[in-house]
Amino acid sequence: MTVIVREAEAQIETLDGQRVGVIGYGNQGRSWALNLRDSGIDVVVCVRADPSRDTAEADGFATSDLDGANDADVICVLIPDDVIPTLPLTPRPDAMVIVASGYTLAFGRLNLPCDVGMVAPRMLGPEVRRCYLEGTGFITAVGIHRDVTGTARSRVLAVAKAIGGLRQGAIELTPEQEAVLDLAVEQALAPALRRVSESFVQVMLERGVPIEAIVTELVLSGEVERTYRLVRLEGGAAQMAYHSPTSQYGQMSRADRFGHLDITAAMREVVDEIASGRFADEWDAERDAGYPYLEELQAKAMAPEILAFEADLRSKLGERATAI
Ligand code: NDP
Repeated sequence: MTVIVREAEAQIETLDGQRVGVIGYGNQGRSWALNLRDSGIDVVVCVRADPSRDTAEADGFATSDLDGANDADVICVLIPDDVIPTLPLTPRPDAMVIVASGYTLAFGRLNLPCDVGMVAPRMLGPEVRRCYLEGTGFITAVGIHRDVTGTARSRVLAVAKAIGGLRQGAIELTPEQEAVLDLAVEQALAPALRRVSESFVQVMLERGVPIEAIVTELVLSGEVERTYRLVRLEGGAAQMAYHSPTSQYGQMSRADRFGHLDITAAMREVVDEIASGRFADEWDAERDAGYPYLEELQAKAMAPEILAFEADLRSKLGERATAI
């Protein structure tokens, strides 16, 4: 039975008298630190002495070096997953360490003798702050990895509540389930959807449709985004009522045309690599080598001509972007 946790089941007061050390002041770190403080929690931000620390101090936080977190009662580790194992982490035996992703726990990259848990927002870092301020909150995945003190669950839920992560409900997952799901979205779902979009662009170009019009359909109009919004708010079946009869007939009568494509097998292979830890080994080796292949991939995917093409298109059509 899947366990769904609601706000009423968590008490922020569990953390009364406890100091929370937030390691990292990036996407998640800044949002967590601000949300925790606004929820009445005593926060110290532990970061290297660089512009991140300046930002934390400008936001009014007490700061320390990374190893300063070892004095805290609760330590929220909010830096990239591949960097976490390199931290000078020696928490007290009665401390609680919380990660925002199951990755390091699932693949044995973080072995600590204290309470260890996971609060993984299903939300981009800066949006964690925005959703908190708007009062909507966001869904999280929560999990307990190790409970030494008997208070791991209450402390994990208190932190989840304090950042706004129980307002829409939380799903209890093991770190392994969370890590496989999270990486599968990135490595199986996203590339498959990208491949589908590329095929669509190719077929439309062959029919003489201008690229501007194709990209408008895919992203610029916002129609796809808003349709997914309706799927979220009303359900996939209910939102069909907003599509014309021609559209409904076309979508449903052609749904089986792609059934023979064996996307599942390719996805299963990618997910096997994740679950077996082979991807984590590969990513560690990439980190140890100084990220050469990542840089090669970034140079190709974010080449100046691609960025310029996208900027030009977006200057002509669609809503002006607002920074998150
Ligand atoms: P970021 O890339 O934004 O983290 C940046 C922070 O990490 C900075 O404070 C940076 O410090 C610090 N950092 C980076 N490298 C090092 C290093 N070698 N030593 C010490 N500090 C370092 O990370 P995110 O916020 O994106 O991710 C944090 C966690 O949240 C991860 O576990 C991730 O999986 C999880 N998560 C992220 C989501 C997202 O949307 N981004 C969504 C849900 C979970 P400095 O400025 O000093 O370099």
